Amino acid sequence: MPSHHSEEEDKPCRACSDFKTWAKSQNKVTFTSPNKPAKPPPTDCPLDKDELGRATWGFLHSMASYYPDKPTQAQSDDMARFFNIFAQFYPCEPCAKDLQQDLKKHPPQTTSRDVLAKWLCDRHNAVNIKLGKPVFDCNKVHERWRDGWRDGSCD
Ligand SMILES: Cc1cc2nc3c(=O)[nH]c(=O)nc-3n(C[C@H](O)[C@H](O)[C@H](O)COP(=O)(O)OP(=O)(O)OC[C@H]3O[C@@H](n4cnc5c(N)ncnc54)[C@H](O)[C@@H]3O)c2cc1C
Repeated sequence: MPSHHSEEEDKPCRACSDFKTWAKSQNKVTFTSPNKPAKPPPTDCPLDKDELGRATWGFLHSMASYYPDKPTQAQSDDMARFFNIFAQFYPCEPCAKDLQQDLKKHPPQTTSRDVLAKWLCDRHNAVNIKLGKPVFDCNKVHERWRDGWRDGSCD
């Protein structure tokens, strides 16, 4: 993906680029020379597109897997609003634009935990397909994000 620039500043948008693309745009050498020992990368830098994506999916899927089984009408309306607002402000602009289009065709489904988790899993899979990544089995979404795998490996 090309590195995008934020609207206000003429700086490449780190949250819209993977780290390599971003680093190249900064004319920085990212790989160690044979003479210098590798320094561990700092852990307190701004998130690049993939780090932001992983952290965000973790939050969104967890939120869906902990959503009420039987939400009130107000909770259901608020959750739908949350996703529409989220899609306006997600800090990777090209990602947000695509998500806004996707939400027009597939508006948030918030009538129960299972319905919301499945809807979100499908939205994530649409991005996976776009990026050539494997499709996730949505029957396992609560195992992944709430209960842990059936084989006990997370216990
Ligand atoms: C709303 C949104 C839109 C994005 N749009 C773009 C984009 O347009 N272009 C771009 O380059 N990047 C985009 N990203 C980032 C991209 O989706 C990935 O987060 C990033 O490429 C890192 O991928 P990853 O392989 O580490 O796993 P991720 O896709 O981040 O997934 C994290 C973990 O979630 C689990 N998982 C995978 N699929 C599903 C699923 N369907 N349901 C539940 N759990 C699942 C897996 O265990 C996986 O390891 C977007 C991220 C978000 C949150």
